[in-house]
Amino acid sequence: MNPRVGFIGLGAMGLPMARNLHRAGLLAAVWNRTATKSRALAAETSCRQAADPADLARGSDIVVLCVSADRDVLDLMAAMAPGLAPESIIVDCSTVAPETACKAAETARFHGADFLDCPVSGGVEGAHQASLVTMVGGDPATLERARPALSAMTRKIAWMGPVGAGQATKAVNQVMAAGIAAAVTEALALGAAAGLPLDRVIEVVSGGAAGNWFLERRGPTLIQNHFETGFKLALHDKDLAICEQIAAQYRGDLPLVRTVRADYAALMASGFGDEDISALYRRKRALFDPDAGPPFDAE
Ligand code: NAP
Repeated sequence: MNPRVGFIGLGAMGLPMARNLHRAGLLAAVWNRTATKSRALAAETSCRQAADPADLARGSDIVVLCVSADRDVLDLMAAMAPGLAPESIIVDCSTVAPETACKAAETARFHGADFLDCPVSGGVEGAHQASLVTMVGGDPATLERARPALSAMTRKIAWMGPVGAGQATKAVNQVMAAGIAAAVTEALALGAAAGLPLDRVIEVVSGGAAGNWFLERRGPTLIQNHFETGFKLALHDKDLAICEQIAAQYRGDLPLVRTVRADYAALMASGFGDEDISALYRRKRALFDPDAGPPFDAE
């Protein structure tokens, strides 16, 4: 029999992920802090709008969480606790610290339930197309029971180790994402200063060794100074703080992360925290003097 899946956190990622569960015939109930979103999705999919997190947990074999940050996950674990039944599984797709995953798993275990940390990568496009990848921490047998729900939302499911290992892998991903976003925006700012046709720069560079997901998906919009789509830079900054905490545990340093976080801090202070991470381009463009001479002459 198909598991009944409940979903909490209908944001930029969660809403399309929940819709993919519905398409697979698995979505039983939804709950969202802002009730208008859960009401609308319940009406669209004919699933149940749960009254509160405990009510959602009570009617679900699997609960998927996709909320912003560590405190939100821990608060929701506590709020769901009265409704958790033995054998139910919490699948947390939020990006949080490995330590938070371990604390959430303890709460689940205390109530006889199981927990998997399943952070995802692939952006909002991946959430819409069910082409996300997920990095899983937890008991492999629990993963097998949760697999139908994860398969409805993702194209690749990688088991990484015990609880926390999924989030540790995601931290590695987020350091790379920071470096790539910084490199692409800095490089395109150079191209803009030189007066190059940036759409063609993106096209040709995408086909060579420097091609990457961020350049192809965000390059065309960022050169138009459009930063609405995707991944809020305040959320990436939260992830990079986790990366720094992990590095500190190993008495290490992440200089690249420090640089990107300094740019994010300036952008957040200017009110751009809800923009996509491609808004780093604002900072990179400002590194060039607009009056520094004629652009590159293509003739
Ligand atoms: P988002 O659009 O800001 O949505 C956040 C969701 O979490 C909303 O449903 C929000 O409810 C809910 N929420 C926040 N705090 C809450 C709380 N205290 N209690 C209950 N619900 C709460 O964020 P997102 O882009 O979907 O990201 C969600 C998670 O996925 C984050 O951990 C992020 O780092 C990760 N992620 C994002 C991307 C991406 O490209 N966007 C990619 C991979 C991973 P309201 O509707 O009431 O605000």
